[in-house]
Amino acid sequence: MTLIIRDDDTSFFTTPALLDQIYGQLWAHSLPVCLAVIPAQNANTRVLHRADQRYDPSIPPHYRGIEQNFLITDNHELCAFLNDKISAGLVEIMLHGYSHSHYEFMSDDAEELQQKLTAGLAILKSAFPAATTQIFIAPYDKVSAVALELILGMGLSLCTHSNNLAALPGQAATHGYTCQTLPTGKRLYTCDEYLFDLTRPAADSLANARQRLQSEPLVIVANHYWNYFYDWNGVNQPLMAVWQTFIQEMLVSQWDVKVF
Ligand SMILES: [Zn+2]
Repeated sequence: MTLIIRDDDTSFFTTPALLDQIYGQLWAHSLPVCLAVIPAQNANTRVLHRADQRYDPSIPPHYRGIEQNFLITDNHELCAFLNDKISAGLVEIMLHGYSHSHYEFMSDDAEELQQKLTAGLAILKSAFPAATTQIFIAPYDKVSAVALELILGMGLSLCTHSNNLAALPGQAATHGYTCQTLPTGKRLYTCDEYLFDLTRPAADSLANARQRLQSEPLVIVANHYWNYFYDWNGVNQPLMAVWQTFIQEMLVSQWDVKVF
């Protein structure tokens, strides 16, 4: 039974304290967390598929609307904190788009996508010299066929919603939590849900997560750290409480917590 903890949206805006409140207990028990890091987040990004077209909630309110890309390398405190965790084998760094603009990797512009992938990896290398970035996570979990080909073609592995794979040969029936090794040797993971989020009561999130742990041989717990502090105004107590309960149960279980 394998458990992978994946957290999306670590960026220039993230503080060590926020991550530590969620994952400190895991780290204290030498268990690793995989962070999908945005290299250069644009603060003027609206979530266009939602009716209210609000700003991306991973941008703190006082930055929203500023037309600027904020580099992860400029958050020195966070980089130092994560570099210590990387050295200790407690954090895996994953590439999460480039600027996290809306549906950024749904584009069919191969040249622009290639530039973003290359520049994004270079920024992560500068921020986290000891980390080997092997996994791509698409912003908003949306990725075009053109982008998929580029990502896999440049030797990255991928974790994605199975909806993005429907057009690939032999993948139409892939759903839920899966891991495949492709002919190239790269791995393709699917994860179709965020277990702990704000779309349902916290108790339902916990019940659903427990159910998955009982029934699935592989579970990828995909989080957005900012959900636990939504909307950047203190701890979301109900969600944090069920998360801490989940961790306590996991720590006494037989689950093998791994990186990708
Ligand atoms: Zn994201």
